Amino acid sequence: MTARIINGTTIAAEQRGKVARETARLAAAHNIVPGIAVVLVGEDPASSVYVRAKTKAVAEAGMRATDRKLAASASEAELLALIAELNADPQVNGILVQLPLPKQIDAHRIISAIDPAKDVDGFNPLNVGRLARGLPAMAPCTPLGCVMLAKTVHPSLAGLEAVVIGRSNIVGKPVMQLLLAENATVTVAHSRTRDLPAVCRRADLLVAATGRPEMVRGDWVKPGATVIDVGINRVTGADGKSRIVGDVAFSEVEKVAGAITPVPGGVGPMTIACLLLNTLRATCVQNRLPEPTL
Ligand code: NAP
Repeated sequence: MTARIINGTTIAAEQRGKVARETARLAAAHNIVPGIAVVLVGEDPASSVYVRAKTKAVAEAGMRATDRKLAASASEAELLALIAELNADPQVNGILVQLPLPKQIDAHRIISAIDPAKDVDGFNPLNVGRLARGLPAMAPCTPLGCVMLAKTVHPSLAGLEAVVIGRSNIVGKPVMQLLLAENATVTVAHSRTRDLPAVCRRADLLVAATGRPEMVRGDWVKPGATVIDVGINRVTGADGKSRIVGDVAFSEVEKVAGAITPVPGGVGPMTIACLLLNTLRATCVQNRLPEPTL
């Protein structure tokens, strides 16, 4: 068997197109243009690349992006003051603080200060709690993208045996909550899990989010399972060249799985698409308009 490839690039492009059409409709019908503020502290090269990519995608969707930059030496008080200003600005519907933050700033305090209604990253404790309670919440973008990709294979996830490897606050735990909300039977595995291969072999849906290059091998996967690979790991090959691989040994697993996301081109592109979707939803909620069903 060779797995069907779940093409995240194509699916994300479709999603972004839908968001752009809905954004144009919002502007035409209500004269509202969703606005997102992207906050970057310092000059970390990887963060700067991410911020540029997000800003470009926001503009392409017909939304307004505002870049707010602070020096690497900025204090926590300065960043809190900027968050307060953005919380109060009616032109700003979404606030995204690029992580990681410099050492002198407590990221948890900053994320907690973002207005939950504008928390398009879904990391504010109120949104985390609402998601855990099964209430409507702004959910984190990468986990949302994982579930959307899984649903391209299984339109209903109800009753599926799902195994999530990884329990981080930004990926593993929210993926678990979203899958539970879809009525999957969810097991969360982590570095202390006993006999991880056997746990994974139970899964109809396997989500790998460990940051361990190509950890999930072919014989860990139940034949026909759907595999969502969240990992983004840079490795150096035998030829000395560096490349990006996932947390799944793709060439082995694609021979066993029923469907699999590639890396790159799987979960990665969905993250920005879901950021746009969250910003659109936040704008509708803030303007007391019905949320789009995309
Ligand atoms: P993280 O915070 O480092 O968490 C990794 C999780 O994997 C932890 O829960 C850890 O368990 C578990 N783990 C590590 N080694 C393990 C092992 N040998 N066996 C079982 N579990 C193990 O990482 P993260 O932020 O969740 O990110 C995970 C991966 O996703 C990374 O490759 C990251 O680059 C990628 N990522 C991609 C996107 C995207 O847009 N596609 C977004 C975010 C992250 P313990 O809790 O027991 O330590």
